[in-house]
Amino acid sequence: MQSDYDDIIDRTAATAKAWLGGFEERPIPPEVPIGDVRSGLGDRLPERGSEATEVLERLTVAVEPGLMGIQSSRFYGWVMGGTYPVALGADWLVSAWDQNAGMRDATPGVVGAEELAGEWLLDLLGLPSTADVGFVTGATTANMVGLIAARTAVLRSAGWDVNRDGLAGGPRIRFIAGAERHTSVDLAARYAGLGLPQTVPADDQGRIRVDLLRETLAAGEGPAIVALQAGNLHSGAFDDFAGAIAVAHEADAWVHVDGAFGLWAGAAPRLRHLTEGYASADSWATDAHKTLNVPYDCGIAIVADPVAMNAAFSIHAAYLPRPAEGFDPYEKVPEMSRRARGVPVWATLAWLGRQGVDDLVQRLADSAAALARGLAELPGVSILNDVVFTQVCMALEDDDRIAPLAAALRADGSIFASPSRWRDRDVLRFSVSNWATDQVAVARTIEAVRAALAEIS
Ligand SMILES: *Cc1c(COP(=O)(O)O)cnc(C)c1O
Repeated sequence: MQSDYDDIIDRTAATAKAWLGGFEERPIPPEVPIGDVRSGLGDRLPERGSEATEVLERLTVAVEPGLMGIQSSRFYGWVMGGTYPVALGADWLVSAWDQNAGMRDATPGVVGAEELAGEWLLDLLGLPSTADVGFVTGATTANMVGLIAARTAVLRSAGWDVNRDGLAGGPRIRFIAGAERHTSVDLAARYAGLGLPQTVPADDQGRIRVDLLRETLAAGEGPAIVALQAGNLHSGAFDDFAGAIAVAHEADAWVHVDGAFGLWAGAAPRLRHLTEGYASADSWATDAHKTLNVPYDCGIAIVADPVAMNAAFSIHAAYLPRPAEGFDPYEKVPEMSRRARGVPVWATLAWLGRQGVDDLVQRLADSAAALARGLAELPGVSILNDVVFTQVCMALEDDDRIAPLAAALRADGSIFASPSRWRDRDVLRFSVSNWATDQVAVARTIEAVRAALAEIS
């Protein structure tokens, strides 16, 4: 059996090394459309199998031209991190160990690492040490965990047991969020049965207007949930947590914070002011596959009251005995069986240490600021947002030139940024989320944009 794995592991390691070492030469965007990938893989299910080595060879040859260089230091698309070497190593071990991370007593090896990762995260982010942490696939699911815990708790306070009686016929929950919330909050609310939020207008950077939040809360009554945001997708802006949470708690609302990338500002002393007051919220969602640069997928759901998290997600059966102490991991998240995706988080935090996480987050923000300064000097370019964190939104004098600029950059292939629309303008959006982005990458990025602008003029 061991030799079955040996050859595969050696070959796979060589393939991975070649991919990881290739970002200087290869263009960042995929070079072939999906149809080519599919036909390269063999469109139809084979009647008979093939050698494992042949299958992996075909996989590499067909798939690699269709890969996006997300791990490049010059990739700024959407909000996506790369992969630290230590995180990749830990992630491979997670697959090799193949533990089901649902139960403490069954798989204490990986659950121990995940529990420590959770405790270290709370410490780093300045969140209450008494909060509970669940590892999920991403911030969308982490938002869902927060909103389902919220829904269960606010209904319970209103005398309604949603676990027993369901949502239908119960008190209507007022779900309130800012106009510039991330769309995943709406999706999470849909899963939680909350419907679309009542929307509170945002200010010029996308922050919820606390005065209008107060009015919205005062205009109704009954159980309420407020979703706030740490890190606006376009501007990087942070809601005024101290103000908004005080207003929401006065109205007995549960406060959830979507901080998929922004929560990490809490781990950098010079940026921590952005998150001031967020520790008094009731739940938080973040990602490790963005800012912390662990491989996909890894999101983190945090709930201040462990009993509220447990009330929403726990189930028991004769074959699932309660652990000797604490709650089992499967009692905090939607999945029962799952991979130990928190182990790469432990490894990355152990490798970086508190100082290393500070350096990482600060470097991302410093690179974004340098990028914004350099881009602003190019002819016709303006930066629309106050660059407070990792996001840069650039506009041109003429909105119609953004699409050709994005096309020219894609053809050049040396950088990648996402076109978008923000505050009624066409923009090119840069998210600095990769650990490898440094001053050299930033300088090359500015040169690539300069060249593309010259080409389309
Ligand atoms: C990326 C993102 C999400 C969704 O996270 P996934 O990991 O893709 O599920 C939610 N909110 C914000 C602000 C984001 O940037």
